[in-house]
Amino acid sequence: MTDTEMKIDPQRAAALVSQIKSVRERITAVASGRDVRLVAVSKLKPANDILALMQQTSPPQLHFGENYAQELIQKAEILPRSVKWHFIGGLQSGHCKNLAKVPNLWCVSSVDTEKKVQLLDKYRGEFISSFSSSSPSEPTPEKLNIHIQVNTSGESSKSGCEPGAATVALCRAVLTAPNLHLLGLMTIGAIARSVATTPENENEDFLCLREQRDLIVKELGSEFGKDGKLELELSMGMSEDFEGAIVAGSGEVRVGSTIFGQRPLKSEAKIRE
Ligand SMILES: *Cc1c(COP(=O)(O)O)cnc(C)c1O
Repeated sequence: MTDTEMKIDPQRAAALVSQIKSVRERITAVASGRDVRLVAVSKLKPANDILALMQQTSPPQLHFGENYAQELIQKAEILPRSVKWHFIGGLQSGHCKNLAKVPNLWCVSSVDTEKKVQLLDKYRGEFISSFSSSSPSEPTPEKLNIHIQVNTSGESSKSGCEPGAATVALCRAVLTAPNLHLLGLMTIGAIARSVATTPENENEDFLCLREQRDLIVKELGSEFGKDGKLELELSMGMSEDFEGAIVAGSGEVRVGSTIFGQRPLKSEAKIRE
């Protein structure tokens, strides 16, 4: 289904490659040898940009993040199956079914209620079993990775689960869901704190997410961990603050505008050029 006719503008491709290279170098410079996953946030950017990065980076960039369910689904249909898609936008219950059926959806990072955990688990399960019976030639989709989104800044405008008991309960729900895998916790955090973040000036949102991770490990580690140890990553850090986030322990950063440039208005965005 991949569209081999997709045009790649060489100048645009060169700019994208140079920008992502510089982000990769900045990540390595602060990661102290840890593996930090870079999710290239391609929301509102055309599939041509994504294909250019996949083809022209080494190692190939495969993790891409999207904010709008419909946009992710449309791009997944025209791009290679090797993309590892991340859904990072505000998650609506009504979108869980269609998202769970994207075979190469790799992670949903914005899970914030038990209802959405149940819907994603149910539909991923249905999708996996439909595969194993009907199409033995195609690879069976895997369990969906999940980040629980925590509202670490307490802003009412931000989605995410409240820190504390609610976050523990939500993690437990994912850990007991057969078709989901709890990868860790995610936060967006307050803009003002992001802007003020430097490798020296620790961001309170990052601190809060780390404390929540420690709480989950303490509360649920003996029950769900391997040998009593539960490994959970933190997804935090965007264009403004990804280096500070890595210093604070982030295992995944989500970087958009520093790679792709400013985004168009949603009404003017194109799935492909
Ligand atoms: C848009 C977005 C990003 C990337 O933001 P930039 O500032 O462009 O790097 C990261 N995470 C989430 C949840 C986003 O919505």
